Amino acid sequence: MRTINILGSTGSIGTQALQIASLHPERFRVNAITAHRNADALFAQVREFRPVMAGLTGMESHEVQIPEDLRFCDWRFGREALLCAAADVPCDDVLVSVVGMVGLPAVMAARKAGRRVLLANKEALIAGGKLVMAACPDGEDGPTLIPVDSEHSAIYQCLKASQGNSYEKILLTASGGAFRNYTLEQLENATLEQALTHPNWNMGAKITVDSASMFNKALEIVEAKWLFNAKPEQIEVLIHPQSIVHSMIQFRDGAVLAQLGAPDMRVPIAYAMAYPERIVTDAPKADFAAIGQCTFFAADTVRFPAIRIAYETLRAGGAASCMMNAANEEANAHFRAGKMKFTDIARVVENTLQRAGDLPADTIEQVYFADEKARSIAREEMAKL
Ligand code: NDP
Ligand code: MG
Repeated sequence: MRTINILGSTGSIGTQALQIASLHPERFRVNAITAHRNADALFAQVREFRPVMAGLTGMESHEVQIPEDLRFCDWRFGREALLCAAADVPCDDVLVSVVGMVGLPAVMAARKAGRRVLLANKEALIAGGKLVMAACPDGEDGPTLIPVDSEHSAIYQCLKASQGNSYEKILLTASGGAFRNYTLEQLENATLEQALTHPNWNMGAKITVDSASMFNKALEIVEAKWLFNAKPEQIEVLIHPQSIVHSMIQFRDGAVLAQLGAPDMRVPIAYAMAYPERIVTDAPKADFAAIGQCTFFAADTVRFPAIRIAYETLRAGGAASCMMNAANEEANAHFRAGKMKFTDIARVVENTLQRAGDLPADTIEQVYFADEKARSIAREEMAKL
């Protein structure tokens, strides 16, 4: 039996993690869950999973009436609720599946309390990769950080099968998002509704827009750098529209290992939750005869500048990737609020990075400073549009 606390339990990743927990009640006990403002969804989860603690991170206690039958658990509110679920409520594992850079303090708090972190929240790693990796050394009992992002889970699984051989290259696959086949002109006029229709994966709104802009892959390039200690030239992005090959690693002898399966996040979530065992999930099995073919293309960095920007931030080092993430969070939210064009997202991020200059990211204070600075420049850039 492992105990798990789930930060962002009402989201796309969080609800799928709870599905896995309910499939295996003998294996997982959910001790704490948090949502941001979706109180009704959280109430239903508390009723079903009966955690010790529940938190609404985007609300204060006076804003919500806790139903009589749910008062058995410890209710927390605001930012404190996230840290309480990350560090104070005892558990083995903390699944960090909140969206955005708010995941960073949660990851750090969970590690400080000695929890194993199951990391879906890539923004924590993009913003504070150096700090996160330093806080997550492999322990005597195994890893203290297990990636949940499907590509990184795939690479992680391939590395486990590599018998200690180091890889030469990571082949990071990308579906290409909703706008894979759009022309530059079509991209200029792309709507939110179009951006939200992802061809293969059913995910939260922020990451779905990130997939359309390819900033999701940009963040994943940086995520791969930190998780697998990769140099920029060791990471190659491949567009693979079917999303069957979740990523690959290539060795010096020319051999390539890949991890494949139907595109369903329950597989990498369950892998992280039950590591190193594989457990039953409700995910469909890949039907290769029906899939027929898997195709691969090079990424187009003219239509999707995000990929180029990511490599530039890796080469710049310091807080550059952190600022790319911060500017992208601001720009993504602005686009989702209907306040700017889709193609302005990359423009805002690029202009922000140009104006921000070089900043360090060696301490948590430096990371927050760079993050705030990039957000404020990005807001100025968006106001100019
Ligand atoms: P969702 O938007 O579906 O869910 C986000 C969760 O976090 C919800 O529980 C939400 O609560 C909560 N939340 C939102 N804002 C905040 C905040 N400011 N502070 C604390 N909690 C907050 O996101 P996803 O599940 O899609 O993604 C979560 C993370 O996992 C992201 O970092 C994403 O990049 C990553 N990821 C997601 C994948 C996917 O398939 N969805 C795949 C790979 C990675 P509420 O419901 O109340 O709003
Ligand atoms: Mg991914």
